[in-house]
Amino acid sequence: MDPLDVVSDLHKIKPVYQPIVSAIRHSVAGYETFGRIQNGEEWLSLGDFFHNRDVPEEFKVEVDQHLLHIVMTEMLETNTEGYVFINRNAKQLMVNNGEDLLESLLMFEQKGFAMNRIVIEVTEHDFDEEFEELIHLLLYYKTFGIQIAVDDVGAKSSNIDRIRQLEPHILKVDTGIIRHNDSDGFHDIIYSLSLLAHRIGAALLFENIEDNFQLQFAWKHGGHFYQGFYLARPVFELKDAHHISVNVSEKITDYILREKALVEDRRNHVLHWEQKVKSLLPQWGGVKKVDAFIDTLTAQFNTESFRMFVCNSYGEQVSANFRKREGNWETEPDKKGSNWAFRPYFLENTMEMRTSSRGILSENYSDIETREMIRTFSFPLSEQYFLFVDICYSFIYENESLLI
Ligand code: CA
Repeated sequence: MDPLDVVSDLHKIKPVYQPIVSAIRHSVAGYETFGRIQNGEEWLSLGDFFHNRDVPEEFKVEVDQHLLHIVMTEMLETNTEGYVFINRNAKQLMVNNGEDLLESLLMFEQKGFAMNRIVIEVTEHDFDEEFEELIHLLLYYKTFGIQIAVDDVGAKSSNIDRIRQLEPHILKVDTGIIRHNDSDGFHDIIYSLSLLAHRIGAALLFENIEDNFQLQFAWKHGGHFYQGFYLARPVFELKDAHHISVNVSEKITDYILREKALVEDRRNHVLHWEQKVKSLLPQWGGVKKVDAFIDTLTAQFNTESFRMFVCNSYGEQVSANFRKREGNWETEPDKKGSNWAFRPYFLENTMEMRTSSRGILSENYSDIETREMIRTFSFPLSEQYFLFVDICYSFIYENESLLI
């Protein structure tokens, strides 16, 4: 569609509203708005118009201003509460120093539309150009109470520093990237993003949720907000925008039950392993006989483990490695004297074990030697010595509760 036709036919342009659902209240928290243009019988997306770099930014500002006025007026007239998410690109915001948008918002504030209900979405790609000017403008907007969301976050991990500088209120993550059986890589990205969000006090919003699996993923990974066709499509009428296609409370109850069962199952593994070690503890003859002690344990952990050793509270390995190769346990005496205190949580975990006299199961991590995903079960043998049992990938793989 010719950009000139778009601008000259403003009366054919209308906003649509797509509900955003709160993970806390399980109800609609706000709406992202998009533009649609009438073309004969059908309504077309204005996405191409806004994403086209050849369209003058002034045109985009004009169309967006038109849409914003309709949105704010309709929200006020229908007493619709909640946030309004609007999309703006960096260049467009910079036209006239971003004053057009601010003036409109101030005018609507006078009419009772609080500034903190406005969420401006900028995309991470915008950070590449004119970042300094953009961040100044956005920080200025923030002083009025306007909220900032970074859209499509995670697409470029190099921007983490810039996201930190901006301290946005919301990070929007595209859930569409995950595929049902291949979510490992994405899982790591999400984990980093959730840490970042936590540090800067931003809420995670998972968008493009299209099925139950993705909703569960969003719930499990700490999303504050959900958005996507699975929950609600964009609609013209605000009165239709309260409807959510699935019963979010019911879904979340399912996720909670499932998660609780997995946590319980995982705990049972740990309790079972604790029992095995405890039953042999009378045979613990101190550090001088440490290898003989592990030797008696190998049969107990033949299915679960491929490597066992004992460290003292300084992280120093005081035993040989017991290493299972092709079904047989071999000792690797040269590993004695290694120090593992540099590992994440090592000292904290040993102190915890000493205080509680309980075993600890690590998270999943990639083993440096085998490159496989493993977990480590550790247990306090005494005040100073700690047993480490590395659980092999095949056992983890067969037990779903250990996979997560
Ligand atoms: Ca968006």
